[in-house]
Amino acid sequence: MIRLQNICKRYPESGEVLSQVNLQLDDGEMCFLTGPSGSGKSTLLKIIALIEQPTRGKLYFEQKNVTAINKARISNFRKQMGLVFQDHRLLNDRNVFENIALPLRINGFNPKDIPRRVRAALDKVGLLNKEKAKPISLSGGEQQRVGIARAIVHRPRLLLADEPTGNLDPALSEDIMQLFVDFNQVGVTALIASHNVNLIQRFNKRILTLDNGQLA
Ligand code: ADP
Ligand code: MG
Repeated sequence: MIRLQNICKRYPESGEVLSQVNLQLDDGEMCFLTGPSGSGKSTLLKIIALIEQPTRGKLYFEQKNVTAINKARISNFRKQMGLVFQDHRLLNDRNVFENIALPLRINGFNPKDIPRRVRAALDKVGLLNKEKAKPISLSGGEQQRVGIARAIVHRPRLLLADEPTGNLDPALSEDIMQLFVDFNQVGVTALIASHNVNLIQRFNKRILTLDNGQLA
């Protein structure tokens, strides 16, 4: 589904952050990305999410070269992706329902379908009874699950998560990772960055390790 070919990324302020990264993620695969802080995990995810452009190298999404595509085409590819961040980036002035509905509204889904889709996503993360709550009134684990519901509500084919358990205690972290495993089992391809090696080793999935900008 995703192929990176000799990807390099240089930030003017930081020098070369990724050098010659080659990676293939097959349709339906789930894979963890680990490595110490500053090793380039977030940068690699941003390149795959078409948020950052690589300095050199090529990125393919389903055999199509998407390395230097224009804005209009980027939003087309984004529709097939769901993004989860450590700080979940929920809007605190809107309730849970509205937070999850937002990507559907942005992507032009039929308004008639929105409540059903939002509730299906909430059901998957076990938060059906929280749709009217404001994010700020939820626990950290619940907020993260809202962020995940928002990432999967439009049924992306590829789920990218950057340190999704970074702020959670160990038991909750395992629950959240298990949610990704569950989505993967119903066919969603997933790439999850986490520096928590102990946690990701429990899931029996491929683990990629970034060190000094290179995949070990
Ligand atoms: P990780 O997610 O593994 O901690 P990052 O991809 O966030 O690593 O960062 C890798 C390196 O790139 C770090 O040295 C960081 O300071 C630098 N970096 C990340 N984003 C930027 C940016 N937008 N501009 C300049 N340097 C950056
Ligand atoms: Mg990071």
